[in-house]
Amino acid sequence: MKEEAIRMKLRIAPALTILGVVALASAPAAVAQEQSGAMQGHQAVLQAPDDLSPVDGEDTPVHIHLTRDARPTASKGGLSTEARRTANMTYHGGKIMPSAATKAIFWGASWATYTGDKITGLDAWYAGFNASNYSKTGGEYTGTNGTTNSGSSFHQGHVIDTSAATGGGSTSAILAEVCKVITSPDPSGNGYYPVYTDVKRGNAGYCAWHSAGSCGGKPVQFAFFFNLDGDAGCDPADTTTGHSQGLAALANVTAHELLEAMTDPASPGAWYDSSGAENGDKCAWTFNVPSVVFPNGTRWKVQGEWSNAAYTAGTGYANSSGQKGCLDGH
Ligand SMILES: [Zn+2]
Repeated sequence: MKEEAIRMKLRIAPALTILGVVALASAPAAVAQEQSGAMQGHQAVLQAPDDLSPVDGEDTPVHIHLTRDARPTASKGGLSTEARRTANMTYHGGKIMPSAATKAIFWGASWATYTGDKITGLDAWYAGFNASNYSKTGGEYTGTNGTTNSGSSFHQGHVIDTSAATGGGSTSAILAEVCKVITSPDPSGNGYYPVYTDVKRGNAGYCAWHSAGSCGGKPVQFAFFFNLDGDAGCDPADTTTGHSQGLAALANVTAHELLEAMTDPASPGAWYDSSGAENGDKCAWTFNVPSVVFPNGTRWKVQGEWSNAAYTAGTGYANSSGQKGCLDGH
């Protein structure tokens, strides 16, 4: 989910560059951007190499996965916000991820003694995602560097960092964690590093988000996840797969974030609709079947992902606005 009229700001630090960070028009950032004249449409990048100091709000994540009840359903003129969107997504000039090298990061002190199914389960999720029919729901989008043709991925396992985790309010804090524990990012720039923290969501209106940046000059994609145990706002209500509730919730938002990262990874953006919704956003919290099977035999209750081709052909299932463009590959 991206906000309209967002303000994009590129911060340049010696070993740590954030490319996907948007400040929600906080006053100092907005002033700097007006002066730069660099704003162009949705995801313009501000070149401000002289601005290295933190400004309140400039790290605010923008590609957020809203909770079930925070979805934009407010009525205006008899149509929901979503119904007034264009159905299909359009291309905005950026790169896509032709493949993904994934490595999960479990961050937080409580992972040291964790004995549940989330770590093994998410490793199985990522391993099973490769070449799955589910992954191919994101396989039609072309960017400057190729096409998301197969949704192919390679899972490199996980790393556990038992230092104290931070919440999702700062993209630079999560990027710093990624750069700390991923010492050799994927050399092709297709690294995707999801950070699963042990921090509870509290009052945040989102379950997770994705962003992009670089570690030591190498482009990386990354994502942030709260601990969703017992969190009804981010729960897919999986009653058939046998996974713990916490794993089931993470698996569903994991699907959302990875497919969005593949189709709209960085700045400038690639594929999203007229209100800034990416392929995961457009089908969020809609489930076509009780579970989807991955090639490694694992089953997951995962939302569908928007397909322009399916919508045009009338072969998708309906999102929450009744637009039939969602696919889950089942
Ligand atoms: Zn999203």
